Amino acid sequence: MALVVQKYGGTSVGSIERIKNVARRVVETKNRGNQVVVVLSAMSGETDRLIALANEINSEHSRREHDVLVASGEQVSISLMAMAVESLGEKAISFLGSQVSIKTDNDHSRARIKAIDSRRIMEALASGFIVVVAGFQGVDDEGNITTLGRGGSDTSAVAVAAALQADVCEIYTDVDGVYTTDPNICNKARKLDKISYDEMLELSSLGAKVLQNRSVEFAQKYGIPIHVRSSFSDLEGTIVCKEDDNMEKAVVSGVAYNKNEAKVTIRGIPDHPGIAASIFSSIADEGIVVDMIIQNTSAEGLTDLTFTVPKLDYEHALSSLKRINDEIGAREINGDRDIAKVSIVGIGMRTHANVAGRMFAALSRENINIMMISTSEIKVSCVIAEKYTELAVRVLHQEFELAKETTDESKEV
Ligand code: ADP
Ligand code: ASP
Ligand code: MG
Repeated sequence: MALVVQKYGGTSVGSIERIKNVARRVVETKNRGNQVVVVLSAMSGETDRLIALANEINSEHSRREHDVLVASGEQVSISLMAMAVESLGEKAISFLGSQVSIKTDNDHSRARIKAIDSRRIMEALASGFIVVVAGFQGVDDEGNITTLGRGGSDTSAVAVAAALQADVCEIYTDVDGVYTTDPNICNKARKLDKISYDEMLELSSLGAKVLQNRSVEFAQKYGIPIHVRSSFSDLEGTIVCKEDDNMEKAVVSGVAYNKNEAKVTIRGIPDHPGIAASIFSSIADEGIVVDMIIQNTSAEGLTDLTFTVPKLDYEHALSSLKRINDEIGAREINGDRDIAKVSIVGIGMRTHANVAGRMFAALSRENINIMMISTSEIKVSCVIAEKYTELAVRVLHQEFELAKETTDESKEV
């Protein structure tokens, strides 16, 4: 008998009809002789609706109360799912994160899972129940409700699979696997049979929301293969697992984009030791996470600094910098919300030269200006104007011939 963890995303449980459809799949999985734990997101649109309600009260509401509110979406979906399973004649029981001790730190709205006590789930499974667990939420040491960041149910599912030492962890979503890029904006995107943890981690960290990046981190740490597949078909999806010799080692295996960042520029900063430290510690003290940073070479003792922050924190970052400008002494602080980051990812990049050059040339042929660049061993990212995002993704997809299966010549040697 195998222990199977299945996670269903918002679209898959977005209506009563869809909840009934998932309940049928879950019951079929049990009838094939498996023990089944189901991890659910809120019904599609619900988390956004709750966040909008909170912002109507006060956009600077406390993060603790934010979590109490947004965690409620999953309470609705798990109870409806348990009822739908019961109505098919099977035993089901739903649990909130706190009821199965999904222990997290207290960093509200982006908490990290520290431990899960698997006892209650195991007891329910042993008594023949299908167990339905609320994704996205946990509880801190003081009993406060926490949430894991947008898309966090993926991480709940992988963490539950690790804690239960499950045989299989399946992530059911509205596309039938991980593609070379978002299939909803590039109709040439190709489904991958397998992808390494390293590449998937980069793709999801760079915006491919098919998996939350922390779920991939977790899976890699505990060696859990993830099967990403569609809740609307029985097709095999994509296996996210350890890099192996049979895997495509394409120079570039995927293109990702992220429209959720904004750019802040500080011009004419006196260039002396300690300036960057005071700027970034003041930003960090506000709980704002910085992504890309570039600093120009100084001229006449002055330098410019540009960095990106989540769009949601943009106004906050500008106001806090303006507050400390007496200390920094910058000539000008401004920014741009209408940007996007496009990235190419591939483990084959480790051994191929001029991948970045090809990316820049492809963007320039479309007259897309690059505002910032960052690279790592297996990725190159460029910040561009947001309005060119879709075009840039398609152009890069074509430049690196991602629509085609990798041929032997383009494989890493
Ligand atoms: P769920 O609600 O099931 O968690 P999400 O909306 O969070 O689903 O993630 C699925 C979406 O991820 C897809 O609909 C697709 O638009 C997007 N996506 C972005 N990049 C990729 C990619 N490389 N492969 C597949 N889907 C992707
Ligand atoms: N409901 C949460 C969200 O919309 C968690 C998830 O879907 O994974 O972000
Ligand atoms: Mg998701």
